Amino acid sequence: MKTTGFSEAKGKGMFSCKKASHLISASLDRGLTAGERFSLRFHLAICGMCRNFRKHVYFLHDMKDQWPTAADSLHSDESLTDEARERIQNEINRTDH
Ligand SMILES: [Zn+2]
Repeated sequence: MKTTGFSEAKGKGMFSCKKASHLISASLDRGLTAGERFSLRFHLAICGMCRNFRKHVYFLHDMKDQWPTAADSLHSDESLTDEARERIQNEINRTDH
């Protein structure tokens, strides 16, 4: 018998990982109600996957606060030199044909 190791559905009425990840993001955006915070805390106590997810999300969030320009430049073409841009363009052309 094959098991996935994914225990989300175990136990009745258990808070799903999907909902947990939603609340983790929401806690950064708008904050959580007392009930939401309690449910999330309970889920995190039993789910290592979501604990890791939260660590990751909080880490990225902190980075964004501390170095907003660094985070922005990741999405900007400005950080590319002309040469790099040309090389990328060549790659794109090559895979096209
Ligand atoms: Zn989970």
